[in-house]
Amino acid sequence: MNFKNYVVIIVTFLLLTFSVGSSILNYMKSLDETQKELKERSLPLSIDNIYTEVQRNLIEPTLVSSMMSNDTFLKDWIINSETDIKKISRYLESIKNRYSVFSTFLVSEKTGNYYTSKGLLEKVKEDNPNNAWYFKFKDIQDSYEINLDFNKFLGNSLIMFINYKIFDDDFHYLGATGIGIKISYINEMLKHFRAKYNFNVFFTDKEGNIILSEKENDDIGKVKNIKELNLIKKGALVDNSNLIEYEKNGKAYILNTKYIKELKLYLFVEAEVDKFTKELEKTFYTNLLISLFVTAIIILIILYTIKNYNKKLEKLASHDSLTQLSNRRNFNEYFEKSLKLFKRDKTPRSIIFFDIDNFKMINDNYGHLVGDNVLKRIAAILNLQIRDCDSISRWGGEEFLILLNDSNLEQSFKVAQKLKQSFENDLGLNNLVKEPVTASFGVTEFKEDDTIDKIISRADNGLYAAKNSGKNKVEKVK
Ligand code: GH3
Ligand code: MG
Ligand code: MG
Repeated sequence: MNFKNYVVIIVTFLLLTFSVGSSILNYMKSLDETQKELKERSLPLSIDNIYTEVQRNLIEPTLVSSMMSNDTFLKDWIINSETDIKKISRYLESIKNRYSVFSTFLVSEKTGNYYTSKGLLEKVKEDNPNNAWYFKFKDIQDSYEINLDFNKFLGNSLIMFINYKIFDDDFHYLGATGIGIKISYINEMLKHFRAKYNFNVFFTDKEGNIILSEKENDDIGKVKNIKELNLIKKGALVDNSNLIEYEKNGKAYILNTKYIKELKLYLFVEAEVDKFTKELEKTFYTNLLISLFVTAIIILIILYTIKNYNKKLEKLASHDSLTQLSNRRNFNEYFEKSLKLFKRDKTPRSIIFFDIDNFKMINDNYGHLVGDNVLKRIAAILNLQIRDCDSISRWGGEEFLILLNDSNLEQSFKVAQKLKQSFENDLGLNNLVKEPVTASFGVTEFKEDDTIDKIISRADNGLYAAKNSGKNKVEKVK
């Protein structure tokens, strides 16, 4: 495996571990926080809110009933043998209207008469199940009770009776009085808690039977009939607020309960955990997708950078950094291939080998920087004048070697002469150095039994001869 693949695999692995790992950690943390929030805040707060609401709605009706039970007119009317029913029905009627309640009533212990605002309704009898509430109430210790009449549903509302005992001045029991009110607010409240918080809210009796629940909520209907609820009753039906976790139909639930003594009912607020964590799951998958996407982009950037970097390294290894021409090592490879091809196809090939004249003097007189610029300008002239199918190399300091394809000795000689003239007359070079920049050239062509060394040696001889015969010359060597 090469280095590049190795780096990419390691980086991908690290990035994926990091991004997937942090997404999972985040998800777990949010999951934990959501459950904690549910258990420690949302559910207990809802319980408290509902409890406060129930209590708030009980204050006024309780006061009215209490006031009725202490009313001297009412007491006197019973003591005075319940004559003139009109009087008592008018009294009950006026209370009913003043406080806009559903009904007002009075039951006399002595006669068993049940009066309402419309007059005498019936006589209460122990064997009449509809009257059972009266006989039960009579026997309790407390002086009042709140009774939800589950038989009397009107529309969405339930009737709640607030019953008060009536005593004469000597604390003899005279009967019961009170009011009945519609409690539609409970259904509204339960609806509100489900719509706003996704909570199922319901009330059960001491045995755990669901007594009050939101009418439109089918979920609770199902709750009624499942055995798991029986298992949790034990834990749930204690007087203080209580938190229970359980599973129902394979789904996790958290339940908060509280006993509401005024209603003698247990309040249940239930949350299906999945409903609260669905959003988190969505966020998790979105985060994961984004992480994978970002990882892919980073990997592409790394691959691109490595590729570019490799290209630069290759160029650096094969080219001269000053002139951007092929260096000797790179050129040699090409040179060898070219010689082999020559031996097969016999097409004429030549080399031109040249060395700038008196270059040391240019450096000495104008500085190294100008010397460098002269070399760059020479390279530019070569690139302009030499065909693309040929090859140019910076052989050494101020020595250059050109390989000309499909060119015999005579043709290459002409190319060299043209180059020689170009150097002498080049405006760019003239701008850099006052005196003309010249070079001495050796030219030779490939032969049947040649080696690289032999070819170079012949060209070098030509160059040497050109230098010796006064420089700025082209010498061809057969
Ligand atoms: P001759 O005409 O006989 O070739 O004389 P010369 O001065 O050109 O030759 P010599 O070999 O004495 O000097 C070549 C000089 O080229 C010496 C060296 O410092 C300089 N040189 C080699 N490479 C570079 C380069 O990259 N930049 C510069 N500025 N000078 C270079
Ligand atoms: Mg030299
Ligand atoms: Mg020289």
